[in-house]
Amino acid sequence: MNKNVFRNFSYGVYVVSTLDNNRPTGCIANSIMQITSSPATVAVSMNHDNYTNSCIEASGKFAISILSEDSDPGLIGNFGFQSGKDINKFDTVSYETIGDLPVITDACGYITCKVIDKMETSTHTVFLGEVVEGDILKNEPAMTYAYYHKVVKGKSPKNAPTYIAEEETKTESAAKWVCGICGYVYDGDTPFEELPDTYTCPICKQPKSVFKQQ
Ligand code: FE
Repeated sequence: MNKNVFRNFSYGVYVVSTLDNNRPTGCIANSIMQITSSPATVAVSMNHDNYTNSCIEASGKFAISILSEDSDPGLIGNFGFQSGKDINKFDTVSYETIGDLPVITDACGYITCKVIDKMETSTHTVFLGEVVEGDILKNEPAMTYAYYHKVVKGKSPKNAPTYIAEEETKTESAAKWVCGICGYVYDGDTPFEELPDTYTCPICKQPKSVFKQQ
């Protein structure tokens, strides 16, 4: 099987958020689809290992913030490459509360949902959510998963349904600086020999020292 064929599916980049008791938490998801329009219903696929999964299970509700092409890539590092079990991810981002669910301000729209059903796979839970609220926050194009890979140059966390191991996607290319945390590939105008000492990853905010030449 050629796993790269899955890259031909279209996805977005979303922050799926919920409450851990009263504490807002969430993670990045890309496998979200609308199931029907009346009553408006969506499905979200989420890895069992994501802390957000158990919090949605417990709270019975979640919100989806739809990231736009101009959303801060740091949101993806904050929500996609660390666990809400360890830190308060919402402490460092701007958000508003819809109903009682946290929604990212720097997104092009949001919906809030109550869980009406779920399906388990060996690795992921598919939550079926009936939409409670939804609105557009700014008129910017939504970030597609392809845009994230090609323009933002990010990778998938290992828990993502769309994750493909590095060795399966490697292609011949010149030496590059690659973030060891989130996989961001630096390809700025500066020559590749050395990154500036003050350089930090635009996605996960880690310092130059985590970058490796590939
Ligand atoms: Fe990074």
